[in-house]
Amino acid sequence: MRVEILGCSGGIGGNGMRTTSLLVDHDILIDAGTGVGDLPLERLAAIDHVFITHAHLDHIACLPLMVDSVGELRERPVTMYATRETLDIIRRHIFNWQIWPDFSQIPTPDNPFLRFAAIEVGQAVTLGMRSITPLPATHTVPAVGYHLHNQASGASLAFSGDTCICDPLWEALNAVGDLRYLIIEAAFADRERELALLSKHLCPSLLLAELAKLRARPEVLVTHAKPSQQEQIAREIAAGNSPHQPRMLAPGVILAF
Ligand SMILES: [Zn+2]
Ligand SMILES: [Zn+2]
Repeated sequence: MRVEILGCSGGIGGNGMRTTSLLVDHDILIDAGTGVGDLPLERLAAIDHVFITHAHLDHIACLPLMVDSVGELRERPVTMYATRETLDIIRRHIFNWQIWPDFSQIPTPDNPFLRFAAIEVGQAVTLGMRSITPLPATHTVPAVGYHLHNQASGASLAFSGDTCICDPLWEALNAVGDLRYLIIEAAFADRERELALLSKHLCPSLLLAELAKLRARPEVLVTHAKPSQQEQIAREIAAGNSPHQPRMLAPGVILAF
């Protein structure tokens, strides 16, 4: 499997700052933040599956626009996967004919541009030799991460999505025997630790305490830093001298496993 980082910032502001989106091979998106907007039309039209971690705007911003742009170029619907709770929020607040049309009904309910599929933590969706399994997360709204497993190579990548302290996440990750990469968030610098706890995100000190619960030694990549705090977050993580040696993720990076 090949994961291309389309966006890994907590916000926008030039300098390659795009919000969360990962392109898996040519046909799967994990989240649909503003990084999706850089893909040319033919690459957008090749996306069949979109897995959403949670309903926050930085993770779904480009989904409504993408579906509208590619709908008539495709012969089958794009499938959006999320938990039942997240699907309900997105349908009620985005695809509600007021913010955006309900593309699960047009052009016809029988052959729409978009269809919704409910998923559950721990239950894998299998697409050929690839499986994608929702992971537990703790956030201010219902949220999951994702475990991507390549059955052909016997290797895995895990992505936390937005999360704060979450023991069930580490239990799940400690059960993954072939974890090659872990992408995990640190949204705030340590001076905003209280805000991180309040908004259910991680900051470097919380991230390093969480990482100590991980038994495996994957490559750890840090995502979702606030644009104005990226360098401070990187410094604080480096100063922590974690045996996991986390590195900041960057847009355009390709992870193969
Ligand atoms: Zn969020
Ligand atoms: Zn976010």
